[in-house]
Amino acid sequence: MILVQDQLMDQSELHIGMEDRGYQFGDGIYEVIRIYKGHFFGIEEHLTRLERSAKELQMSLPYSIDLLKQRLIELAEVNSIHDGQVYLQITRGVAERTHHFPDNQKSMLVGYTKEAPRPLQKLRNGISVITTEDIRWLRCDIKSLNLLGNVLSKQKAKDAGCDEAILIREGTVTEGSSSNVFIVKDGVVKTHPANNFILNGITRNVLLHLAHEAGVEVVENTFDQSELMNADEVFISSTTMEITPVVSINDKTVSNGLPGAITQLLQAKFEQQIEKIQAV
Ligand code: PMP
Repeated sequence: MILVQDQLMDQSELHIGMEDRGYQFGDGIYEVIRIYKGHFFGIEEHLTRLERSAKELQMSLPYSIDLLKQRLIELAEVNSIHDGQVYLQITRGVAERTHHFPDNQKSMLVGYTKEAPRPLQKLRNGISVITTEDIRWLRCDIKSLNLLGNVLSKQKAKDAGCDEAILIREGTVTEGSSSNVFIVKDGVVKTHPANNFILNGITRNVLLHLAHEAGVEVVENTFDQSELMNADEVFISSTTMEITPVVSINDKTVSNGLPGAITQLLQAKFEQQIEKIQAV
């Protein structure tokens, strides 16, 4: 079953209009929310961010956050999702093709689930990444469907046999093509501040909170490519990748090619959060 507007239905019943603005302009927003052992992780935070994205794009949400939450829980339940995720997107809907907003907006909402195991091997062994220029627009804080800059960067990483591309804007490390980026130097964690140049990740915020709790110093400051290359530890965070160590950048080994101590500490704290949610 999938969610269409506020109803659960069979996928065969879904009809997307040829002139849907999501399809023609990428005029819409989305969220990916993790499910662990049948329970949503951070659903309120994701829906709050969805609300913010809508506001920034002057889109009104077609349903209340409470109703959306209820439907997503029903969707995950009816599909018996154990470890997986839900993808939810809302577009500005069908209207005669013209760039400006239509006078009568009829937004289109679709949500669907899939089973997705935790990326255990990558969490344990780390990943290799490349760096590439951040060619995206200046509102990366909005989780919009317009992802071509991200798509091209991720493809570059794939072509290089890597899992992620770390984006550099005018010398400054912003984030990954689908993740936030952190470095550790002399025991201090550093990550780009949450402004218009990055998506303020839900996992990023969980992580900052956990670091604070664990007494690990974190600074939300910009850093450049040479700080990245000379860091003691590097890791990325996202809903699907959790806290993943980076062990190689542009074929250069990070520290000794193994996940660092602070990365592992934060991973362990994150793991505890997952365990907690299962007990609910
Ligand atoms: N930055 C970008 C560009 C992303 O696509 C994602 C993944 N949604 C993130 C950061 C991480 O965000 P979250 O932790 O909310 O998944």
